[in-house]
Amino acid sequence: MKVLAIESTCDETAAAVVESFGGGVRVISNVVASSVEMQKKYGGIVPEVAAREQIKSIIPVITEAIKGEEIDAVAVSYGPGLMGSLLIGVETAKVLAWAWKKPLLKVNHMAAHVMANWIVGEKTQELKNSRTQDIENFYDIPHLPAVGLVVSGGHTDLILLESLLKWTWIGGTRDDAAGEAFDKTARLLGLPYPGGPEVDKAASKVTEEEWNLNKNKFKLPRPLLHDPGLEMSFSGIKAAVARMVENRSQILDNSSQMTVVSYTNLVAREFSEAVTEVLVKKTMAAVEKFKPKDVILAGGVAANKMLRELLKVAVENAGLKFYVPELKYCGDNAAMVGAAAILRPEGSELDLRPEPSLGVV
Ligand code: AMP
Ligand code: MG
Repeated sequence: MKVLAIESTCDETAAAVVESFGGGVRVISNVVASSVEMQKKYGGIVPEVAAREQIKSIIPVITEAIKGEEIDAVAVSYGPGLMGSLLIGVETAKVLAWAWKKPLLKVNHMAAHVMANWIVGEKTQELKNSRTQDIENFYDIPHLPAVGLVVSGGHTDLILLESLLKWTWIGGTRDDAAGEAFDKTARLLGLPYPGGPEVDKAASKVTEEEWNLNKNKFKLPRPLLHDPGLEMSFSGIKAAVARMVENRSQILDNSSQMTVVSYTNLVAREFSEAVTEVLVKKTMAAVEKFKPKDVILAGGVAANKMLRELLKVAVENAGLKFYVPELKYCGDNAAMVGAAAILRPEGSELDLRPEPSLGVV
């Protein structure tokens, strides 16, 4: 089955054509347009600006994605997200499904982030093409039950995936999402929007030598780290970053070598260390409790270098396999929506309505 998938929950407008491939999906085309350059001017997402850009780009993006493919169904993210943005994707998908007389498949955007782990990468496809025997071993897709950590701009959730359809929420943040904390920290540090990738870049610039020399001057809290539960909290780290930034001149006055840039990079490094430590510890606590076969990372923050590396090490040290989507499938995209539509069907509705506050399970 070939699916045209549409994604317009936030500031991206995306379309993809995907088809089932082994136990996963193969991406035929994947097109993403973003209004991020425009949003940079405002230092964040202005919903009206996002929606107006999406109206302009949705048809060209879909046209480029289809490129003459025969489509069997249309899939669309119907929430969570911004109402104005969701409406554009949902209404466009409805019109196309109706005009083409094809099913309209509804997809939960957060579930789609998780299902990005079932996109069979180019490398696996090559392997499959070169050796036709024992094909099953070449489909590198997660085994269930798995523990999933979903980290995005609006959500931070731990889930237990017992099967593709049976997911249970087992923990998460009680206040800010991890991505939100990254974005607010970036703003406090004067880094441009979108903040997460900028904090990631700044943190990566700190050399180990510089870090060892300075880390005791940059201590942020790790909320609930030693609490036995699977609850997390990120608003306290963000508040501590604000205090750290206020004290910047004091540290800069006392150190002749430190510049504003190196100060910013060091705060970004400590912030990334603090958030990653909490996320890794809580995910491993979930592993301990639920004894899954594999661990899955997903959502926009899954693009974070430190988190990808340290969670992988922790999971592999526990003897499990770690899955994270390729970078291009971590941020919002439509290929993941197609993967969810094919592998985790939620139903087909021609009178679909957006649900801005939908949860991951
Ligand atoms: P999503 O809500 O899943 O679309 O993801 C967007 C969120 O991911 C935003 O809060 C971004 O700042 C964050 N993000 C994207 N890339 C990174 C990164 N490399 N490190 C940390 N956060 C990131
Ligand atoms: Mg998203």
